[in-house]
Amino acid sequence: MFTIGAHLSVNKGFEHMGLEALSIDANTFQFFPRSPRGGKAKALDFDDIDAFCEVMDDSSIDVILAHAPYVINLASKSEKTRDNSFEIFEDDLKRLSHLPNNMYNFHPGSHVGQGVDTGIELIASSLNNIISDDLDTMILLETMAGKGTEIGRSFDELEGIIELVEIDEKVGVCLDTCHVYDAGYDIVNDLDGVLDEFDDVIGLKRLHAVHLNDSVHGFSSHKDRHACIGDGEIGLDAICRIINHDKLKDLPFYLETPNDVEGYKNEIELLRGLYTG
Ligand code: FE
Ligand code: FE
Ligand code: ZN
Repeated sequence: MFTIGAHLSVNKGFEHMGLEALSIDANTFQFFPRSPRGGKAKALDFDDIDAFCEVMDDSSIDVILAHAPYVINLASKSEKTRDNSFEIFEDDLKRLSHLPNNMYNFHPGSHVGQGVDTGIELIASSLNNIISDDLDTMILLETMAGKGTEIGRSFDELEGIIELVEIDEKVGVCLDTCHVYDAGYDIVNDLDGVLDEFDDVIGLKRLHAVHLNDSVHGFSSHKDRHACIGDGEIGLDAICRIINHDKLKDLPFYLETPNDVEGYKNEIELLRGLYTG
């Protein structure tokens, strides 16, 4: 089954978001559990969550993906920022425990001059304090484009974090097609080679989701600007190969393209037409 969705707004509640996903022929979606710029999260509305669970039960929506706010940086030089990031992360997971089958994607962090190794240790140590055996949510490290001092620009950096995590069965990876292309993985000309490398370094069993974006900038640009499907440097042919690749075709795909809901609907229609499974 093709699992495809887009990033939707949670502002009108979970039931609304579920119905909105179905209205654009999506069977999953991504959302921010709080403002991407941080701040206090809205109190959970349990009636709304019950209504959403019914939508999910009655539909083909099987999994949903939460995206951590951009402000968190578990690798920050400042202890205050790290503590604050940790609190947000922990609180988001507590909130997600009330939602059905979900995953939590986050940007690993930026080492801001401390060096990659120190950054990796800080991130892993936070994850070790956060992850317990009773955690239901799968935590996903997102592959990054490598702007500034971003950690996660290579599969080795992600594996560096994962190998330091004690309860590592709760940790996976979300591959962002724009980010990996900008980071220097040639998914256009050598998708097989990139996936083999992922498998060698991290293991494909860790790959749980794909952010499906085209890229405004070229190969290895380290820029991170998303383009609509087919409008960027990755192009529609490569995107068609990605959604149909044997090693990817059963994963959930999430559009984070510069679109409104109507634009997402059109992209999902286009992609469903190209999916041969
Ligand atoms: Fe992201
Ligand atoms: Fe992404
Ligand atoms: Zn991005």
